[in-house]
Amino acid sequence: MYCQVIVDIVHENVARAFTYAIPEEMKVSPGQRVAVPFGSREKEGYVLALSEETEYDPLKIRAVKRTLEDYPAILPPMMELAREMAEKNHCPLAETLRLMIPAEMRGGRIRVLTEKWIDLTDEERARAAWSAESRSRKRKAILEMLMTGHPRRLAEIRERVPDSREALNKLETAGLIIRTEQEILRRPGTPLKSGSGEWHQLTPEQEEALEEILPAMRNGEGRFLLHGVTGSGKTEVFLAAARKALEDGKKAIILVPEIALTPQMVSWFQARFGTEAAVIHSRLSAGERFDEWRRIRRGEARIIIGARSAVFAPAENLGLIVVDEEHETTYQSDHHPRYDAREVARSRCDREGATLILASATPSILSFAKARRGDYMLLEMPRRVQDRPMPEVQLVDMRTELETGNRSVLSRALSSALISCMQKGEQAMLLINRRGYHSFVSCRACGHVIKCPNCDVSMTCHVDEMHPEDGGPTQLQCHYCGHRTPIPEKCPSCGSRYIRYFGAGTQKVEGEVRKLLPGIRTARMDIDTTGGKDGHARILEQFRSGEARILIGTQMIAKGLDFPQVTLVGVVAADMTLNLPDYRSRERTFQLLTQVAGRAGRGRRPGQVIIQTYRPEDPVLKMAARQDYRAFFEAEIQRRRTSLYPPYTILARILIESPAAADAEGAAAGLGQAVRAVLDARPEWKKKVLLISSEGPGIRMLRGMERRQILMKMLTGSETEDFCAWLAKAAEEPRAGCQICFEYNPTSMI
Ligand code: ADP
Ligand code: ZN
Ligand code: ZN
Repeated sequence: MYCQVIVDIVHENVARAFTYAIPEEMKVSPGQRVAVPFGSREKEGYVLALSEETEYDPLKIRAVKRTLEDYPAILPPMMELAREMAEKNHCPLAETLRLMIPAEMRGGRIRVLTEKWIDLTDEERARAAWSAESRSRKRKAILEMLMTGHPRRLAEIRERVPDSREALNKLETAGLIIRTEQEILRRPGTPLKSGSGEWHQLTPEQEEALEEILPAMRNGEGRFLLHGVTGSGKTEVFLAAARKALEDGKKAIILVPEIALTPQMVSWFQARFGTEAAVIHSRLSAGERFDEWRRIRRGEARIIIGARSAVFAPAENLGLIVVDEEHETTYQSDHHPRYDAREVARSRCDREGATLILASATPSILSFAKARRGDYMLLEMPRRVQDRPMPEVQLVDMRTELETGNRSVLSRALSSALISCMQKGEQAMLLINRRGYHSFVSCRACGHVIKCPNCDVSMTCHVDEMHPEDGGPTQLQCHYCGHRTPIPEKCPSCGSRYIRYFGAGTQKVEGEVRKLLPGIRTARMDIDTTGGKDGHARILEQFRSGEARILIGTQMIAKGLDFPQVTLVGVVAADMTLNLPDYRSRERTFQLLTQVAGRAGRGRRPGQVIIQTYRPEDPVLKMAARQDYRAFFEAEIQRRRTSLYPPYTILARILIESPAAADAEGAAAGLGQAVRAVLDARPEWKKKVLLISSEGPGIRMLRGMERRQILMKMLTGSETEDFCAWLAKAAEEPRAGCQICFEYNPTSMI
């Protein structure tokens, strides 16, 4: 017997299967991982297929050394998925296969954890030996322990009978005891203690949604977009659908944007499904990740909750994939090989006969457009559960505040709303989409803005987290590379002492809130406060328990949180995301504002939202204030059609990075020429290309690397796909001193 093996090396030259012989006594099946000789070394590989014969000279074929696990790590549909992704990404199969297993399994960096146990061979004999035992107190004690209960953990015996090694050896030689080993599974803890295990009585809207979903699940089909306003109870719909999958003997995968930010979702699932629920995320230890993966692989965990990589969970007999908050950009991976978890989910559901549900209160323009075309069935839940009202949203013009002499980051309206919210004993959330104290520093005399030496971005002022009691900001930080330096006393450019600070961040807002409401506990949630394994959970727990009354944070606080005591939400500066140079900035702003507004009034008391802005007349802000998704969608899709942005076109870029500006320029110029030349040679490609630009990117230096790009806008079609394949190949050709990558509809345009 022979097998075709994909060797786990990512290199063009070995991006094909190699044939190995399978030794007589070895059992190998497709998808299994094996160790094979490769050149003079031993490598890991994945078995693609088996064959009885081979076209190669059997004498020259080397043999598989051993199997790495006794089961296939890659299930057949996952193998097909890996192939499809490799083809689409123009990358070696070895690379996409790596997505399917925990990273630490490769190279044997993680092992099955076992525990040693001791058992009796025969109770009668043990009893006799115990009675007869008069020489060794230790042997007698061990036998006694086992007679009252066996098997027992070796560790337990060692603890109760110190220095027992020799006694155990003697008992073993006498055939009285045997040693065994048992696997133990490392399990991650529960993130938040708010989960209730009760099933709610469904609302009519939830029932209606399920009336469409459940029959589709029975038939192993159905692609749904569940558009439900914030607080409409979408989670309850997934929970019911997941339960149905389980009842049918199937598995369900629930994807969330980021586990740390959605601890409530996890706790709801854990409370309802107990150990049948597995949780996968980036903060697990290697051992926990490996063991959760194995629990899923063996079918012990049948509901999988995780961030985007959980879409690759080795669940056999899949019945359902849910993508919650489907509009979130975290579903697109920006590491190589790139993938979009929503597309992978779709592909898995098609292949494995499962139902797909994408859900959001603010679906992405692309998904909603697909639903309108009929690619997804649209399910709408336009009302909150129990007829709770949607929060009332007010736009506050910050220009008027300035004119009337209010220089605080909090408008009068927001200040008084905060005060009255606290007086009523309720809770509030404040969103400010930048961390730190001030967003930038510039010189009054010459206008110089202090920038990071490694990046072409302005530095942000920070209060030192270690010594916050010292008061104001003392430090400058770069939010891209982490570079830190003390705030200079003089302008580095002209020496003037007049340095001014602009823009507010989370630290500044927290400071002002504390001044406004002394004695009220606040909690701040941003990258600076959420380090460590359970940084997020700790802060959210403080807020959930009511210990902190006001939660101040970046967009981290906008996602999926459900705190019924929150009646006031303030957005400190709504314009911030709107001004970003990206064709999606309107979409992102609308989503962020609607989502954060949706955190208010989720309990019995109605919610109030105050959005501060310098552009209250902006139509996007007005639609967000009305929480009118439909109106926003219509306006935005119209704009995309007329200005030719996705989904009407495809954006692609080649990004070139190099420590030396000249190298980056050279490579960009060379690639630009090659692109133009190939287009001249292929008119069928050229007619699809609307624009080629070598301006940008937005940040021309990042982490010490000079960056240049070639940005292309193209019409869709098979010719465009072929052109993109050519671009991906062209980007792979090495160019001196440069890192080059090809991005198809890049997540970020910076
Ligand atoms: P969404 O994700 O749509 O914003 P959630 O799923 O978080 O909304 O639900 C909002 C709140 O309503 C949660 O506290 C949830 O427990 C509660 N809820 C959901 N469905 C019901 C129901 N049928 N009856 C009572 N409460 C419900
Ligand atoms: Zn100056
Ligand atoms: Zn930097």
